[in-house]
Amino acid sequence: MEFGGRRVKRSRRVEVETSYPCSLQFYSNPPSGNISLMEFDEMAVERLKILRTVERLNLSGQVKSSDEWMNKLYDDFAKHKYFILNAEKSLEKKRDDVEAARRRDHVSHFILRLAYCRTEELRRWFIAHESDLFRARFIHCSRNGSDIKNFMLSNNLHFTPISAEEMQIERENLMNGTYNISGVDQMEGRTFFKVPFTEALELVRSRKVYLKGGFAYVPDTDLVTLVTTCFRANLSQALAMTNRALPELEDDERLMRLLQDFDKRYTGNDYSQKKGGEKHRITPDMIDQLATTSFPLCMRQLNDTLRTTHHLRHGGRITYGLFLKAAGLSLEDAMYFWRSHFTKNMDVDKFDKQYAYNIRFNYGKEGKRTDYTPYSCMKIIMASIGPGDAHGCPFKHTDAQMLRQRLSNFKVSQQAIGEILDLVSKSHYQIACQRYWEVTHNTTLETGINHPNQYFEESQKVIHGTAPQSQGKKMSQVKTNRSVMYSSQSTQSTQAASTQSTQMSTQSTQNTSTSDMDSMLFDDEMDSVLEQYMETTQA
Ligand code: SF4
Repeated sequence: MEFGGRRVKRSRRVEVETSYPCSLQFYSNPPSGNISLMEFDEMAVERLKILRTVERLNLSGQVKSSDEWMNKLYDDFAKHKYFILNAEKSLEKKRDDVEAARRRDHVSHFILRLAYCRTEELRRWFIAHESDLFRARFIHCSRNGSDIKNFMLSNNLHFTPISAEEMQIERENLMNGTYNISGVDQMEGRTFFKVPFTEALELVRSRKVYLKGGFAYVPDTDLVTLVTTCFRANLSQALAMTNRALPELEDDERLMRLLQDFDKRYTGNDYSQKKGGEKHRITPDMIDQLATTSFPLCMRQLNDTLRTTHHLRHGGRITYGLFLKAAGLSLEDAMYFWRSHFTKNMDVDKFDKQYAYNIRFNYGKEGKRTDYTPYSCMKIIMASIGPGDAHGCPFKHTDAQMLRQRLSNFKVSQQAIGEILDLVSKSHYQIACQRYWEVTHNTTLETGINHPNQYFEESQKVIHGTAPQSQGKKMSQVKTNRSVMYSSQSTQSTQAASTQSTQMSTQSTQNTSTSDMDSMLFDDEMDSVLEQYMETTQA
């Protein structure tokens, strides 16, 4: 694959050199042709979103590959117009579109191989979710009468059916030993494949097939399990080989920049203010009420700390300030809001000298005049939390007992608290947050939670049927933005941050000192410190 610059015209970017006769692919050969870096990035992000949808569904408690699971998956594909639906259409209709979608499938899979071959943990995550996706697509294509036979033939997937004699001899055993077969009539017209039991471990583990002499007798209805096992084994081997070849790519800075930390890429909406033009507004008098009904736990915690101590440390001010900005608090209102709290501990003059600059900076009115983006869940979850800090994700950074107590105070049922703490113990912090959202809003949330402002918007949609409307302006339009997102694959990488985490709530209320690092800095000096801070945290 070759990579072109951004200015190459779209029509020339992807050369469809290969024909894709089947809707499914085994990804045996890498793609060829030219692709621009922008398209490379777009394709990779689209596939990452698809795999994250698979992950979210798996964590939602539904049975994997069940009808409900499949329907939700394909509804999501349709909603976001992912390439998969086009790729599974017949080539006879809109051939160019179908070929382009299949090519997108092919190329994006290989890009993610590059991004996910680097560590054992990344490889495990990628193999698990690609295999689930493949399995779902195999089932979907089989149901739609797609060219499964061609796919099997063209990928040398031969499973030998047992002979009529063997079928006769084993008939009774097959009937008794096979899941979902309970009568003679269900044996009619059925084919069984005899494979080494290691190729059907999933079925053996769940005692769904008859075993004899080290062989498993797999009915044709479970062909998908055999094919998926081959897919998984091939992919595992291919990733190991890609990892060995990776050093050859390291000279290409353009690619390395795109692939670095790709697994942590934030794939949700963009809540930066400039992008949206007009937006809905919230005002200071609405904040306490909104914090109770619609703010995620992380922001509610910051608001509670601010209300009780009338102070937030640097990280908390930035996190909460940017959140409120994206939620629709104007600069004038932000100034009023922060001043009204801070001046309970200090005089107005001191506030104006030491903190007002910081607030204007958040709104792009000082320093480089950058419109800083509010932090995503991933960024908040990965943050290092020190003594006295109130920012961070309560699901990640708060001690389990304290979290239980806090949820109890918020009238969350004991059963839901148990579920949330269970998710927390498995490091599924965003899923725990989603569960909290669901129990406090009494409805389900299909999209998951990946950003505090998304939490807020989803809450407002439920409560008012839309985002909050005061002063008649519209909420910012949303767009995918480069940032980071926590996923279960990041468990290890968050360990370091975890060791620094503290029981924030108690500490933050105990520590009301106003001698923060930035409270001593002014103007030019502050510019560079803040810009440096923002650049490292926004990257
Ligand atoms: Fe906030 Fe995200 Fe944690 Fe929820 S998961 S509390 S929104 S950081």
